[in-house]
Formats: sequence, structure tokens, C-alpha cells
Amino acid sequence: MAYTAVDLIEHKRDGGKLSGDAIDWLIRAYTDGGVADYQMAAMAMAIMWQGLDDEELGAWTSAMLHSGDVLDFSDIGLPKIDKHSTGGVGDKISIPLAPLVAACGVAVPMMSGRGLGHTGGTLDKLESIPGFNPRIDQSTFRAILEEHNLVLAGQSGTIAPADRKLYSLRDSTGTVPSIPLISSSIMSKKLAEGLDGLVLDVKTGSGAFMKDLESSRSLARTMVRIGERHEVSTVALVTSMEQPLGNEVGNANEIRESVDVLRGEGPNDVTELTLALGEVMLELAGVDGGRERLEIAISSGSGLAKLMEVARAHGGDPSVLEDTSLLDVAPHEATVEAGESGYVTRCDALTIGAAATRLGAGRERTDDEVDHGVGVTLLAKIGDRVERGNPLARVRYRDETLWESQKARLESAWTIAAHGHHAPDLVIERIDRTTL
Ligand code: URA
Repeated sequence: MAYTAVDLIEHKRDGGKLSGDAIDWLIRAYTDGGVADYQMAAMAMAIMWQGLDDEELGAWTSAMLHSGDVLDFSDIGLPKIDKHSTGGVGDKISIPLAPLVAACGVAVPMMSGRGLGHTGGTLDKLESIPGFNPRIDQSTFRAILEEHNLVLAGQSGTIAPADRKLYSLRDSTGTVPSIPLISSSIMSKKLAEGLDGLVLDVKTGSGAFMKDLESSRSLARTMVRIGERHEVSTVALVTSMEQPLGNEVGNANEIRESVDVLRGEGPNDVTELTLALGEVMLELAGVDGGRERLEIAISSGSGLAKLMEVARAHGGDPSVLEDTSLLDVAPHEATVEAGESGYVTRCDALTIGAAATRLGAGRERTDDEVDHGVGVTLLAKIGDRVERGNPLARVRYRDETLWESQKARLESAWTIAAHGHHAPDLVIERIDRTTL
């Protein structure tokens, strides 16, 4: 059937349902340039207001997924399982998690992203390892995966090119925060990895894309439904992002904290979330006794050995993982101090992430360079008792003017009150096909 973009836009604008055929045509024509950016922007806005039902969403995700290469690792005998996080502050979980799961005999073909806005990105963190190259072609991707059960790469340009185009269009047309558009964007890329199972860490709270629990839950459910529709077992954990994860926010300092986790010396929250997500990955791979196996991979050092081996395979220098004092550290140090005595009741992920980004740990524009040595070390988090003048955070920075511009912002991230409360639960809810 012949379609025109304007007919489809008007149909969706007025609350109509798009057929699978029409969606295939639209995504193909957009990828090829036959549908213009302004038309796709109008369609994205129509979808923001009118939504997509399950059938449309399945077809939309499929069309995006098939706009590029779909990897096939069915000849690799091991179960292929990946994890995706919707993004947060201090979220270095993939770095200890992926090698621990791979050390337990599961193949992890991990494709990660760069920092976006105030959130950090696994690729930027990995590039703090001197020489580490995440930009590899498909045959190198396969070779590293086959040899090590683990590959830690960037998104290849040939995977879901429709999403690449649409995502940057959404970024400049106010059409990012739409559950069908976010879920199809994430899932089209993940489903192209040739997976048997996928674990989603859907963040909720100040530092997350979705600030309220209801929207995070809805995003999680939508992505689990898409995964199951595509016959990839998918489980989502909805987890808190009110305060940063762990004590380190930055790049090299987050690698250091990830190594601490792999040595069994990491902060409780990062270790706990790593084990919780790892347990689900192993469950999806059909491996029993997941938590115990992961704990053994920590205590035996096999997880850290796996990270070192894979860093080397990506051209990185693994000696910085053995001796993390060799990682980059920015030259200047300052502290943020408590203005009063009491209990920390707020340690705001968004504010800390935004300040760290501005100091150079993240990007303002996509072509900015990340400064791996810049970072914030948190010394007081929600529930901690502090006295006036105690340090709340230690900041490593390179540029004095930038630090002066961010000092007050960073100080505003903490609230101290006479009465304390506990940090919010880290893992709030599990969503899988049995709970949809
Ligand atoms: N991450 C993605 O990959 N896509 C979105 O739409 C939002 C976050």
C-alpha cells in the first residue's frame, strides 16, 4: 500500500491506530531520507500526546530494530544476557557487574553509551583506562566475546540507525520524555544484540529520567512487554536514584570504586545493586545459586581478573586496575563542608551530577571532551550524622573558574536536619512477565 507521511501524521494526531505496514514504511522512509525530519518531528509529537498501543509499539520497535544490523550469536553455546540502565549519577554498576556475570559462565555482549546530560556513561568511564578502545567493528566484537565471554563496546553505527536519527531529532524537538518513544528507542538497540535475556535497571527519583515512581514503573512495564513480545526474556528492577550510587561520581574515580567492588571492598549500595542485577542475569541464563556464585567471583578475584583480561583485549592497560592509584586524578582538591550539625536528609543526585558534568566529568555538548580525572567523592549521604564544618564531599577539579562557578550549586545538594531518616530502598520493585 502507498502511504504519505502527512496522512499518517494526521491519523495519529487524531487518535488513530497505525498499522504495522504503515509503521514499517514510515521508519524505512525516514531512515532513507524519504520522510523529512520535520515530518518525523510532527509524528513524534503526535505520539507524545496520543501514545502507541502494544501492537503499534511492537511494530515500531521492530521497524527500528530492523533498520540496521541485527547481531546473531546463536552459534555461541552460552546464554547471552545483557543489562541496561536508564541512567543515573554514580551509576558504575555495569563495570563490576558484567565481568562478574561473565566469570560465572554467561556471555555478556554489552553495548553501552556515553554520558547524557547530568548522567554518566559507561563508555566514558571505561576510557579512563589508558588505551581502552570501545569503538570496535563487528568481527572484533564477536572475537572478544568468543574468547572472554564479555565485550564492553560502544553502540555501533550500524545498529538501529533509525533510532540514532530519531533520538537526535527528539532531543531538539521536545519529544524525549515519551514512554513509547523512550522504550522503543532503548529496546530496539538492545534487541539487536542477539540476546537470550535482558535485565533493565529502571531508575526513579531526582537523578533519573523518570522522577516519579509511577512513570518509572510504567516505563519498566512497557520495556518488559516489548522484550517478551520479541521473545527475549526481560526483567526490570525499578531502583532508587534519589542520591548518587556509591561514593564516587566521575569517571576514573568510578573505575576505582568498581575495582573496590570486585575486591569485595566496595560501598554497600553499589555491591548490593551489582549482586541484585547479577542474580537476575544468572537466573535468566538458567544458572542456579546466582548470588553465591557472584560472591565467589568476588572473593576468588575471578571477576577482577575478567575485567583486566577484557580491558587488555580492548587495548587498555590493565595495570591501572591492579593499582588504581595510577588512574587519572585532576590536580586540585576542594571540600564541601556542612553548614550545620544534624542528619543528612537529602543528597541530591541531579544537583551533584549536574555540577560534576559542568566541572568536566560530563559533556555540555556531544562533541565535548570528558575530563577523566575530575570527580566528586561523597563523604556524607542520606542518614549520616554530620557536625558543622565536617566535609560532605571532596572534589577533584582542573579549572579554578569552573570550580568557583559550581561551588554553591554543589553545596546546595545536601539538606541537613535535626532528625534523620534512612536512605530510600535501593531496589523498589521487580517487574517481569509474571507481574505484567
Ligand atoms: N536512552 C535511549 O537510548 N533512548 C531514549 O529515548 C532515552 C534514553
